[in-house]
Amino acid sequence: MSERQTFSYLSQTFQAAGIEPKTKYGQNFLIDLNILDVITRGAQLRADDVILEIGTGMGSLTKKMAPHVAHVITVEIDRDLQVLAARELEANPNVTMLTFDVLRNKNHLRDEVMETVCAKLAQFPNSKFKLVSNLPYNVATPIISNLLSVSPRPERMVVTIQKELADRIVAPPSCKDYSALSIWMQALCDCEILRTLPPSVFWPRPRVDSAIIRVKPNEAKRSRIQDLNYFHTTLRALFFHRRKFLRSQVFTATQDNLTKPQVDEILLKLGHKENMRAEELTVEQIIDLIEATRIASQGHKPLES
Ligand code: SAM
Repeated sequence: MSERQTFSYLSQTFQAAGIEPKTKYGQNFLIDLNILDVITRGAQLRADDVILEIGTGMGSLTKKMAPHVAHVITVEIDRDLQVLAARELEANPNVTMLTFDVLRNKNHLRDEVMETVCAKLAQFPNSKFKLVSNLPYNVATPIISNLLSVSPRPERMVVTIQKELADRIVAPPSCKDYSALSIWMQALCDCEILRTLPPSVFWPRPRVDSAIIRVKPNEAKRSRIQDLNYFHTTLRALFFHRRKFLRSQVFTATQDNLTKPQVDEILLKLGHKENMRAEELTVEQIIDLIEATRIASQGHKPLES
């Protein structure tokens, strides 16, 4: 039971079942129950929410959320844990447990995940879809980025991840953590760290600090980008050689499509000095820059209406 997910309860239950936490699956269980409150408060649970949880574990977060929402779909890769969690959750009829790897491959969620979410959303009209999870750290990035391209997108994601990853997601310009990932996430979503967590709130203790992050996809932000694929590819290419100057970064990222004079014209019109670096530009400036290269590479005159 969630109120019992303490170190002694977990270790005794594991011992009785003859199992141990599996590092390869990122099995670090929350044993500070106040943290579950921080997660659920950040999720602003509502009676008509359809929640996706990735990483059921022993079902403590699942059990805390279930009474407050329409339905929880929870996915767990480890059959041993699924058996224990099923026992914990048997009194919760509004929980669907799925037992498989949530990822078909790095770039795709398993189809059954969104099929199950869509079926539940259809069952509860006006419901909101949210991801609320203490995520397995080794697959946190593909899970978050895959959920930005599914339909429907989650209204929000409130997840526990490595602090290092959270810092990269929310990093501002000119900071060492500011990267293609920061810009990609901030260009599409409102991202906020709700709480940083020391290793001591988990059993077993992870070697790194963690953070609870809230990511809210923002359709107005997303609509500024005309071609998401082009934006993503060019963004990654821009940051591939971090220490190069902007002119060279833009030319390398667009060299199949643009000439050096075209790149110079774009930088001049946007008012960027050649000796700047991409990491000094704000998210909005990067969006404008990549959009200008996209228009120019289509044969239009850049930045002229
Ligand atoms: N929700 C529990 C809690 O807060 O105590 C457990 C969280 S633990 C950090 C992550 C869970 O994700 C583990 O139970 C692990 O077995 C599961 N997991 C790891 N990789 C997974 C994957 N690819 N698909 C589904 N579940 C996975």
